[in-house]
Amino acid sequence: MPRSSLSETISSMELVDAHCHRVLEGPVDAAGFELAATEATRPAPPGVSHLDGAVGLAIRRWCAPVLGLDGGAPIDQYLARRSALGAPEVTRRLLGAAGLSHLLVDTGPAASGLMPTDALAGLAGAEVRQVVRLEDLAHALAARGVAAAELAPAYVEELAKATRDAVAVKSIVAYRHGLRVDPRRPDPVEVHEAARRWMAGPALGRLDDPVLERFVLWCGVDRGLPLQVHTGFGDRDLALAESDPALLQPFLEAVEPTGTPVVLLHCYPYHRHAGWLAQVFPNVYVDVGLTVAQVGARADAVLAELFELAPFGKLLFSSDGYQLPELYLVGAAQFRHSLTGLLEGWVAAGVMRADEAERLAVALGSGNAKRLYNLP
Ligand SMILES: [Zn+2]
Repeated sequence: MPRSSLSETISSMELVDAHCHRVLEGPVDAAGFELAATEATRPAPPGVSHLDGAVGLAIRRWCAPVLGLDGGAPIDQYLARRSALGAPEVTRRLLGAAGLSHLLVDTGPAASGLMPTDALAGLAGAEVRQVVRLEDLAHALAARGVAAAELAPAYVEELAKATRDAVAVKSIVAYRHGLRVDPRRPDPVEVHEAARRWMAGPALGRLDDPVLERFVLWCGVDRGLPLQVHTGFGDRDLALAESDPALLQPFLEAVEPTGTPVVLLHCYPYHRHAGWLAQVFPNVYVDVGLTVAQVGARADAVLAELFELAPFGKLLFSSDGYQLPELYLVGAAQFRHSLTGLLEGWVAAGVMRADEAERLAVALGSGNAKRLYNLP
């Protein structure tokens, strides 16, 4: 069957990866690869592999041909080919095949062995723009020895500096105390008191104080750049039941008058809740993120569910690629494939015209992100 013009458009269009991280610079062994490919942080029990699931199938399907193997090649063969080619060549091939024009990179988490962003840009053939993590910035100031009384003004100044060339800010409040966020702006006395408590211990812990979390969130809102918020699944450091984006509703109500856009990242398995929030809040957007790569072939169903309520102009693509270049390519290839199937089905069923479907595909792949993040 000849490929439709819609399918040609989707396979050749450049994507804006609106939320990703950095890749590992050096080689990774089989056990490390298995853990980096999923959200698991513990090895699988004997007889089980984390790669024997949706994301493993997607890696073998989309990445093996780019490394010169047959699609679906067994994982042992894939990993052997990977080490034979060497990390720089593997990264260059996989990132190049993802067809990305821009990478919006959250430089946290700062694990060791990650490639500098300019090297990442070179290997991906894409422009890299920075996303500043709100919690990390406060932690860096406290670690530098800023006094508790000075934390608030120093943070505002530091955020202005750090975001001069950034396209967005990001919060991982889901990982710190969940999304049941008290929507009130904390007053300066509360912030000072909380900073004093946080900095009083013998060693500086991570920023998880609810008052300081609210403080950095509101500083992010005041900055006016899109505020990306991790929602839904991730690794087991978060409480999944507290990561439902619907829990953010009071905070979203409070942010709405400011006009600052809030981008709900990942969202799964609460992506339908996120779709509703995007419909009822003018400033709320939904990014498919981590979900598309991790659910593999089931991305067809997840994308279809995101299309139920969210206005199409509010949907964004990202890979949430981190450590393994495979995750960038799987995110992009699976997104293209699932989107093609979904829209071709709609065109065939008379849901929308073919030319409209093509315009929608380009909007989802890059147009919405360029508008929201003010990219050239
Ligand atoms: Zn991420």
